[in-house]
Amino acid sequence: MTGPGPKRKKRLFAADLHIHSCLSPCAELDMTPGRIMRRAAEAGLDIVAIADHNSCENLEAAARAAGEAGVFLVPAMEITSLEEVHVLALFDTLEAAFRMQEDVYRRLDGLYGEGDRPNGIPPFRQVLVNEEDEVMGFNRRLLAGATDIRLSSLVAAVHSLGGVVIASHADRGSFSITSQLGFVPEGLDFDAFELCGEKEKQKPFNHRGQAPGLRFSDAHRLEDIGRKRTSFLLEEASLREIALALKAARGRKAVFD
Ligand SMILES: [Zn+2]
Ligand SMILES: [Zn+2]
Repeated sequence: MTGPGPKRKKRLFAADLHIHSCLSPCAELDMTPGRIMRRAAEAGLDIVAIADHNSCENLEAAARAAGEAGVFLVPAMEITSLEEVHVLALFDTLEAAFRMQEDVYRRLDGLYGEGDRPNGIPPFRQVLVNEEDEVMGFNRRLLAGATDIRLSSLVAAVHSLGGVVIASHADRGSFSITSQLGFVPEGLDFDAFELCGEKEKQKPFNHRGQAPGLRFSDAHRLEDIGRKRTSFLLEEASLREIALALKAARGRKAVFD
């Protein structure tokens, strides 16, 4: 084990960790990785996560587009639990995200039928694109559907892959922990809560009063990217650093203004 290493100067990183690409059935078709990353750079964002519903198939293109735009991409997915609660799962690597996707696809295929056939999805939605924004195909799964993964198992699965778990739009009236369960069950170990309400933004949300409430855009169209954001005081852009900030550890923190 190595020591802590030389101390690096911390700075603020503006982050929007909840953006949907054209792979999400509800997102606009011009939400391609290239356009998203250029818009993110214009909006002054340093770190973004593309979190499509139950899929991460546009993330390789997004990683390349992010590199070109000078933005740091956190691989992510917005997974729907058995209880129909949306959960933002953030990963350190593309590999970890794709391992989670394998499990999610296996569950979706078990519930709604195999992929690769029309499944009530309108044609020309759920678009797979490359980093040049060229259409590579369409995902035929019911990506908007709930999986049969219980919330507690989902939180544990993301953590076991080294990921960070945030309850999506936790104070919203649909597909949230409060709308579906009415409360945050004891022992459900969310790292943070995404909050929509203006007044709530600095309040810790869980029963222990520890996990921070963050604001992200949940953008489904280009103009919304970065409209809501959270700044983090970090040494560098990485999920490891963000995880420390969520615990307010070692001088890292989420900054609310
Ligand atoms: Zn959602
Ligand atoms: Zn969303």
